[in-house]
Amino acid sequence: MNENYFAKLNAINVNDKTEKKGKLTYLSWAWAWGEIKKLYPDATYTIYENKDGWCYHTDGKTAWVKTGVTVNGIEYIEYLPVMDAYNKSIPLDKVTSFDVNKTIQRSLTKACARHGLGLYIYAGEDLPECEEQKPEPKPEPKKETVEIPAKCEKCGNTILPVMHEGKKFTGEQIIRSSKKKFGKALCWDCAMKANEN
Ligand SMILES: [Zn+2]
Repeated sequence: MNENYFAKLNAINVNDKTEKKGKLTYLSWAWAWGEIKKLYPDATYTIYENKDGWCYHTDGKTAWVKTGVTVNGIEYIEYLPVMDAYNKSIPLDKVTSFDVNKTIQRSLTKACARHGLGLYIYAGEDLPECEEQKPEPKPEPKKETVEIPAKCEKCGNTILPVMHEGKKFTGEQIIRSSKKKFGKALCWDCAMKANEN
């Protein structure tokens, strides 16, 4: 296969498919897997059992899962401790099947990320565990308030969100950019026409 499958998966926007719980960002496994299968119908995943056939592994103190996702003939394996929402391993005697199931899904999703899908949401996770890095407080940029819904100052139609080349532009974004470019709030069509002139 000539296409760069990693780049293709990496380019998918996952922002509105994530959920924050405690310190962790979750990407929906069902959604991630659906996206991969749409593009690569041959993709497979494996939940590796231990020698007793359990779907998690343990050293007697903590537990972890091992999962693999194969896309395009390449398998990425992910080991993930069974953790609480604060990134702390749950002691073995407190681990529930619900925790294990959640960890399997998270581990599979992370294996998908190694193939590119949503990789960027894990970028902040390699920080030292005990110390959370505090970003420098940035002064809030002053934003001109924009009223939604707004009418196009040219044709008078309500400015609606638009899908363009696979990207979604909200009414607010359209208004902001047309105000910046043309000095007035324009709908998508009028802004396109103004662009041509
Ligand atoms: Zn218009």
